[in-house]
Amino acid sequence: MVVSQPGESTGPGALPDAPNLIDGELRGGSLGTAERRSPATGALVGTFALSDSQDVACAVRGARTAQPEWAARTVVDRGLVLRRLAQALEAHGDELVDLVAQETGKPRRDAAGELGAAVEMGYFVAGEGRRFYGRTTTSAVPHKSVSVVRSPIGVAGLIVAANTPLPNYAWKVFPALLCGNSAVLKPSEHTPLSATRFVQLAHEAGVPAGVLQLVHGHGAVAGAALADADVDVLSFTGSAAVGRRIAASTGSRLVKTCLELGGKNPLVVCDDADLDRAADAAVLSAFSNAGQRCAAGSRFIVMDGVYDSFKERLLDRTARLKVGSRDDCDLGPVVSEGQLTFMLNAVEAARSAGVPILAGGQRLTNGALADGCYLAPTLLEEPGEDVAAGREELFGPISALFRVSTFGEALDRANASPYGLTAAVWTASVDRAQVFVERAKAGMVVVNGPTYGSEPHMPFGGFKQSGNGFREAGTEALDVYSDWKSVVVVHDPDAAFAP
Ligand code: NAD
Repeated sequence: MVVSQPGESTGPGALPDAPNLIDGELRGGSLGTAERRSPATGALVGTFALSDSQDVACAVRGARTAQPEWAARTVVDRGLVLRRLAQALEAHGDELVDLVAQETGKPRRDAAGELGAAVEMGYFVAGEGRRFYGRTTTSAVPHKSVSVVRSPIGVAGLIVAANTPLPNYAWKVFPALLCGNSAVLKPSEHTPLSATRFVQLAHEAGVPAGVLQLVHGHGAVAGAALADADVDVLSFTGSAAVGRRIAASTGSRLVKTCLELGGKNPLVVCDDADLDRAADAAVLSAFSNAGQRCAAGSRFIVMDGVYDSFKERLLDRTARLKVGSRDDCDLGPVVSEGQLTFMLNAVEAARSAGVPILAGGQRLTNGALADGCYLAPTLLEEPGEDVAAGREELFGPISALFRVSTFGEALDRANASPYGLTAAVWTASVDRAQVFVERAKAGMVVVNGPTYGSEPHMPFGGFKQSGNGFREAGTEALDVYSDWKSVVVVHDPDAAFAP
């Protein structure tokens, strides 16, 4: 295996462990290769292709050539191929879970849960091939039948984040292909090996060469090139900052663009809540997957009357969390050294601004954690808008407590964020629960539960800057990857049309 220093390239020609897959061929990237090291141990996991805009353009051209034949097959047939892919993911589950655990450092048990989510998404979308409903409607004109049907768009560019790699690929690849598009996938540079295996399995399951292409590389180069490329729809999951850049590029060309972005998700604890269960849910919301979930709860908004008792419970549970990459651990490392540094800087800035650090705040280096990117589960108190921790999504195991006097204030505080992805309320009052459901500005609202992600059949996406109005998962995902076509059939043989 050819290995370069981290971040260095070995030059063109060397085929890395995770090569590009273009028109069914394994290919190196024009910029050489880079390494992926485990964020749990620092050990080399493998090398991946570094692609430039030429590689991306080549993948897009191949996808364009392959698309019409794929689109000409019936949607039921495409669904059957995709069902075989879901079966293949299941059959190769151990291998995929190992790759994800190595690349992300997360406990294998968590990676296995994610595999299940990816497989279920596959089965759900494959089944949509036998529904794929349009609708019929009426016309004001006699002898005119009107129906509305879904039509493929063309080539889909798919750019995804690293946090839950297998579901991230599945959420985009399955619906994009079902709708009759071809696709070019640009996975995160942190998870190249699982992406490569996913695409290989797709080909083995019967997805034709060219219909699903894979290009690896750094976001600012390969990702940006895909956003700038000749695609017909671009679907992106990642940070709001990158989403804005992508939208600027695709918007200038009027390319349909789906953005699934971040969150700064509130969990409100009312003075009539079951505090033990609320604290359990808060810990899960904040720290599962090391806080690297767009749906993670990062703002605990607690009513005055129970603030101290809730805080005590939360601190107690947080102190008992086990950090590490073994299966008996509650949370693993964050995805990279850069991400860890970003979070440590955010904590330091909060500390300098006088924000109390109630728990954690430091890198963990004891024992098996010595060479990993581990942050102690961190709780802050009342970080203001003047510091990143109070304002921005940090995407790591950092959350904050906020004290409010009334339910109304809690709601206002929950909504006082540029994001609107998920929101949870803990209360015994059906009135408060219903008011929260109605007024919370979030794409997913939870009563007496953690800040959830989604299930395959439920539309998921955010209000405000958490997205741009599209939903992934559910039948609604098909709206990203198809255009509606209205069809008019005139069936009056005697109709005369005035010139
Ligand atoms: P990121 O925005 O840094 O990267 C996401 C992807 O974009 C990666 O593949 C990356 O290589 C690529 N990229 C980076 N710069 C690019 C550029 N200039 N042009 C094109 N592509 C570029 O995000 P991340 O750190 O990998 O993931 C965390 C973010 O993803 C968080 O904000 C999280 O909330 C969000 N996320 C959202 C959802 C959702 O469904 N709403 C789900 C998972 C993650």
